[in-house]
Amino acid sequence: MFGQTITVAGAVAYERVVKGQPIRQRARGKSVVIVGGGSSGWMCAAAIARMAAPNLSITLVESEEIGVIGVGEATIPTMLEFNDFLGLKENDVLRECQGSFKLGIEFVDWFKKGDRYIHPFGFYGRDTPEFAFHQLWLRLRAMVEQGKVSSEAAGEIHQYNLCSVAAGLGRFSPAQGGADTILSTMRHAYHLDSIKYGQMLRRYAQDKGVHRIEGRVVEVEQDPDNGVIRAVKLEDTQVVAGNLFIDCSGFRALLIKGALRSHFVDWSQYLPCDRALAMPTACAGPPAPFTRASADTAGWRWRIPLQQRMGNGYVYSSAFIEDDAAQRRLMQTAEGSPLAQPKPLRFATGHRRSFWEKNCVAIGLAGGFIEPMESTSIHLAQMGIQRLVNLWPGRGFNPAEIAYYNQLMTDDYEQTRDFIVLHYSATQRDDTAFWQYLRNMDIPDTLTAKLEIFRGSGRILPSANDLFSPHSWLAVMLGQGVQPRNYDSLVDRVPEQALIQNMQLLKNAVYKTAESLPSHADYLDRHCRYAGA
Ligand SMILES: Cc1cc2nc3c(=O)[nH]c(=O)nc-3n(C[C@H](O)[C@H](O)[C@H](O)COP(=O)(O)OP(=O)(O)OC[C@H]3O[C@@H](n4cnc5c(N)ncnc54)[C@H](O)[C@@H]3O)c2cc1C
Repeated sequence: MFGQTITVAGAVAYERVVKGQPIRQRARGKSVVIVGGGSSGWMCAAAIARMAAPNLSITLVESEEIGVIGVGEATIPTMLEFNDFLGLKENDVLRECQGSFKLGIEFVDWFKKGDRYIHPFGFYGRDTPEFAFHQLWLRLRAMVEQGKVSSEAAGEIHQYNLCSVAAGLGRFSPAQGGADTILSTMRHAYHLDSIKYGQMLRRYAQDKGVHRIEGRVVEVEQDPDNGVIRAVKLEDTQVVAGNLFIDCSGFRALLIKGALRSHFVDWSQYLPCDRALAMPTACAGPPAPFTRASADTAGWRWRIPLQQRMGNGYVYSSAFIEDDAAQRRLMQTAEGSPLAQPKPLRFATGHRRSFWEKNCVAIGLAGGFIEPMESTSIHLAQMGIQRLVNLWPGRGFNPAEIAYYNQLMTDDYEQTRDFIVLHYSATQRDDTAFWQYLRNMDIPDTLTAKLEIFRGSGRILPSANDLFSPHSWLAVMLGQGVQPRNYDSLVDRVPEQALIQNMQLLKNAVYKTAESLPSHADYLDRHCRYAGA
């Protein structure tokens, strides 16, 4: 019945455990089994292999027949830290994954049709210990209304952010120089072929000793007394035993849902999109250094420029549009000629109440999903991995640490949810039933509180561990038309003329710096042009 048992180092220790003992004493974390070889699975394998003690055995089981989801091409700047941790060089990653640089996301038609704004990385001006930079700009805007300065001289907030201006000009360079230079405020992320990125990590992990098993998991063997996972059984009768199991099986969530029944916290009342179509097209010009997200009738469309092609997609709510109509809409609007038929995807928005349950941690889509409007999924997988590494159960499973892990991950997901909901709820659009629903829906109390504080005197209070900095909240709140009634009175102590002059100097310096950078295409040619077919 059991077939061949693969005994990996540490599994022997597992077999010696005494039945009925608390989990903490029974598992030793000597043998790790990762189920799933999408980006999450290979990110886990690579990171654990990078920090593992020599006696830790790491096995990854994946099924080529099932395959990977194969989308997930836009990232955020935290990916640089992950690649750095692994020792991967930026230019190698981009060259191999046909990558391009990303300075932010352009949002089109979100606040109202015809409107656009950018949520850039990096910073607006420079904050001081007393007040945030944008308070100076809010005061300048108040002076425009009082006729003390022209609207053009005051400018728009995005003109004070280097990433935003460089993105608009199609320029790119990584941050350089000391903290007093404008170029030091540059921040970037990547657009990349996620399948190629997964393959790169697979080579990295296998070079470091990760054992890969090809096969389909058909059963999960649990301890009948306490539900702890002992092994996964494959279709070909192999049995892979372990102490710690990492569920990276994507939306199937084979272990965390299938075996351990961790409850799914459903957020579809706030985020009703539940389907997507993804379609690559030929490049329609040099790659832009930003992602585009365009609001549409019943969802939104993405455009992600890679070196050799563009990724396009339509994320939509099946309650508000038929699949055929969504497909027509994607075909009509995508730039460049299609390179493949649209690939349909279905998803639910929310997360597992327990990301870590007994001896199983769910990472990536198995743990939860929030639509990719702000490219947060790979980051959330990265956070799951980082926290698991920080709380590594090498000396057993400590329930207090597991609870702490689950709380931190829940906070990450909730903060991300609030930020995404902001894009939908703060809109003037009411041209379709989809937008009418979103405009009028109840939003999470945490988001309401943030908005109320901002509407008062423009303050943005940072929450602990929030992925999105006050600069990001500012970009999207202003972009979505949320206007503070006033500014922080502390900035009144800056003399008016000095304020006008300094702001203008800064705006000009940001523009000149952006203009002096190489074009994004030149930078790619010089440093990381993809050499493959
Ligand atoms: C429409 C859409 C757009 C997205 N865009 C972005 C984006 O721009 N940026 C971003 O950061 N993220 C994005 N994401 C999320 C991103 O795709 C995922 O976070 C990322 O690909 C990681 O997926 P995964 O590894 O968790 O799952 P998957 O890629 O689905 O991998 C699951 C793995 O489990 C294996 N498996 C499943 N069942 C079994 C079984 N029975 N036996 C053996 N193996 C099994 C599969 O073979 C596969 O190897 C997007 C997601 C969607 C749905």
